[in-house]
Amino acid sequence: MKREKLEILYSIIVLITIPVIVAVNTIALTQTTNQAFNTELQRKADLANNIIAQSSLQLIKDRQYDKIQDNLNSLESSQPTLMQSSLIVNVNNELKKVAYSSTASSDLSQSAKTEAKLAIDRKNSIAMLVNTYDRNQNPGQAWNVTTPVLDSNQDVIAVVSASYLTVDAQEAISSAYQQSFIVLIISIVLIFGLLFRHFRLVSYVKLFAKQRELNQTMGDFLSVATHELKAPTSIIKGYLSNVLDGDFGLVEPKVKEQIEVAVTQTERLNSLVQDLLNVSRVEQGRIQYNFTAVNTTKILNNIIENYQPMAAAKGIQIIYEPADGIPLAHADEGRVQEIFTNLIDNAIKYTSRGSVTITQQLKKGVVVTNFHDTGFGISPEARQRLFQRFYRVKTSQTETISGTGLGLWIIKQYVEAMSGSIDVETIENVGSNFIVELQINS
Ligand code: ADP
Repeated sequence: MKREKLEILYSIIVLITIPVIVAVNTIALTQTTNQAFNTELQRKADLANNIIAQSSLQLIKDRQYDKIQDNLNSLESSQPTLMQSSLIVNVNNELKKVAYSSTASSDLSQSAKTEAKLAIDRKNSIAMLVNTYDRNQNPGQAWNVTTPVLDSNQDVIAVVSASYLTVDAQEAISSAYQQSFIVLIISIVLIFGLLFRHFRLVSYVKLFAKQRELNQTMGDFLSVATHELKAPTSIIKGYLSNVLDGDFGLVEPKVKEQIEVAVTQTERLNSLVQDLLNVSRVEQGRIQYNFTAVNTTKILNNIIENYQPMAAAKGIQIIYEPADGIPLAHADEGRVQEIFTNLIDNAIKYTSRGSVTITQQLKKGVVVTNFHDTGFGISPEARQRLFQRFYRVKTSQTETISGTGLGLWIIKQYVEAMSGSIDVETIENVGSNFIVELQINS
């Protein structure tokens, strides 16, 4: 519970922190950009004023103020962001506007006078960002730059004052703001989406852990239950066999018949217990594989010999001609025996007439063994689920045949644990071919 609370707290912190960081970062970035933009604009305005000052130097000396006025007017008409440019000179110790562009007034305002005095004293440009209106009377901002005009002796002979509208820059900045805001919103939405996914993933992980716990409990239960069942079923079978063998006196044929049925059912129970035990061993990783050089041909010969009576009773022929040059396999002998036994047992069980043919070949470092039967075959839908636990094909042909649906699953785990493979080619009502590949012993 404490852990869950901590997780919720962590999620809330993440939920708040990330969007705040993104927002603060975006605002800081746009402000820095704004400042950099303004500094650059101021530098450009200053440069423009200096160019006007330098190009007017001779005209000022020659007092050709009319020409300067013409220049200022033509500059203003060609440069839409330049407004109210004027030239101020010191006439009898008093600052006067001697030339001015069409948008500038002929009077020298008090503030313009103060700025001009400051520029003269400092021998340097003064720049101020002010609120103003453009030529269409739209509100905006402008850099007011006042620049001293210096002669060759570095004496101030005049002052150039001009306003440079920042309209374009303002538009660029506000569109940058808008774009940043859109990016911010998208980022926040994406972050929320990611967080949502994260929470879902966390819940999946929890579910998975719970399922694993449940599987473990089920596995433990299976293991205990099957162990407990194994001993009594073996004892029952033993006693019944003793009775049949006549250890407790002669057995009436009728009683013998009943006891034989009981033996068959106990054997069924025994094989179920054995399968369940193997499932629980596989799931708990308790299967030991003792890898040696295994003679698969010999194993096949032994199994086939044991299964001949069962096949003959059903009128099925087992065909096996050991191939030459089949190398030894790198596998666990006991497991290989179980795999082959299961496949031959199934081939006979699910075949009502015809034959079971076993062949072997060597193929690219593996020993391939085919278990081919002329039996019921398997439909494509059933084929999909064939190697699943407890899966049994349900048809009118298989309904009377007993089984657990565990055999194929178990042997698939064995084969794969030995780096081999198992597959099946099958056609319903024609037959099946189970193919097992085992690594060769090199
Ligand atoms: P069991 O035989 O105990 O039911 P298996 O896992 O060995 O369990 O087999 C699963 C199912 O696959 C069987 O119930 C059967 O329907 C089908 N099957 C297995 N081998 C063959 C085969 N050679 N031919 C047709 N069907 C088969």
